[in-house]
Amino acid sequence: MKKSSLKILDKISRKYALVKYNEEFANYSSLKASFFVYCIIEPKTINKLKKIIKLFYKNNIKFNFFTYGTNSYVTNPNLILINLKNLKLINKTRHKSICVSGNQRMSYLSSYYKKEGIDSFLGGTMIPGSIGAGIKINASIGELSINKYLKKIYVITEKGKKKCLKAKNIEMKYRNTSIKESNIIYKAIFKKHYSYNTIDEYLYLLDKRKNQPKGNSLGSVFLNTDSYKAWQLIDSCNLKGFSYKGFRISNIHSNFIINEGNGSALDFDRLIFIIKLIVLLKTNIKIKEEVIRLN
Ligand SMILES: Cc1cc2nc3c(=O)[nH]c(=O)nc-3n(C[C@H](O)[C@H](O)[C@H](O)COP(=O)(O)OP(=O)(O)OC[C@H]3O[C@@H](n4cnc5c(N)ncnc54)[C@H](O)[C@@H]3O)c2cc1C
Repeated sequence: MKKSSLKILDKISRKYALVKYNEEFANYSSLKASFFVYCIIEPKTINKLKKIIKLFYKNNIKFNFFTYGTNSYVTNPNLILINLKNLKLINKTRHKSICVSGNQRMSYLSSYYKKEGIDSFLGGTMIPGSIGAGIKINASIGELSINKYLKKIYVITEKGKKKCLKAKNIEMKYRNTSIKESNIIYKAIFKKHYSYNTIDEYLYLLDKRKNQPKGNSLGSVFLNTDSYKAWQLIDSCNLKGFSYKGFRISNIHSNFIINEGNGSALDFDRLIFIIKLIVLLKTNIKIKEEVIRLN
């Protein structure tokens, strides 16, 4: 780490946030794959987060960020990470809308609002991660997207500035949006939408998920496309149940990789490479990761 970067990190720890050095990312991720990163910074307010981003931008310091680590892993020991999960949680109902902070869990919002007959968050039913990450990747359960009732988002840009983006100006695709990778979503406004079928639909979605593999994972590892389902390709290569250094391709759903022991994130990364290579050689199809390696 450069001396100048160390100075900035020191300033951050004195003025803006807790900085934890040599942190085990397994403790922050649902995969629990072992890997130590250079440091994890935990701001508690948006204004302090903004100041940290500004400092990094001005001093040209590379960093990345995450919230609940249910879709991400790391393989770079020099990584500086900001963890958004300790920012203040917001969940405010207004007349026609609901305002939530980016670190609210989608599964919580879906379950919480269904009791009032509000179906605005059903697209996040049982999805363990944050709504900020969910909005950015257009998370969905089946065809039902978490962004269905999104009105607008508030982000912090790579320069540390606050900005508001209207949903109608955001392009949404399967597991992808036009929101810049560097933008941190700290707040979102959703339309408050009622439906008579909310509870039934919620129960239906729960039921759909009941056979989902249990254990430490990041959910689906590879993206589907209109032409194929990743799990079918992996099955067709006889990889179902295959195990590599503590990571197993689930016997229940072969797009899930379960960490059965204390596997290292490097081995998880290698297994992804092995699967991609075998699928390519056997089917001539290049599958792509849904999970995110934070660089
Ligand atoms: C068992 C299981 C089941 C799952 N099922 C589904 C499913 O059905 N559908 C689905 O879509 N996903 C599913 N997921 C994946 C995951 O929960 C979602 O992608 C979720 O949105 C990730 O949230 P997170 O806070 O954990 O993101 P993290 O893993 O912390 O981060 C993932 C990415 O999002 C970015 N990010 C994090 N927070 C923010 C923010 N506030 N603003 C902007 N960017 C941010 C990070 O920089 C990173 O690039 C599943 C995961 C698991 C473990």
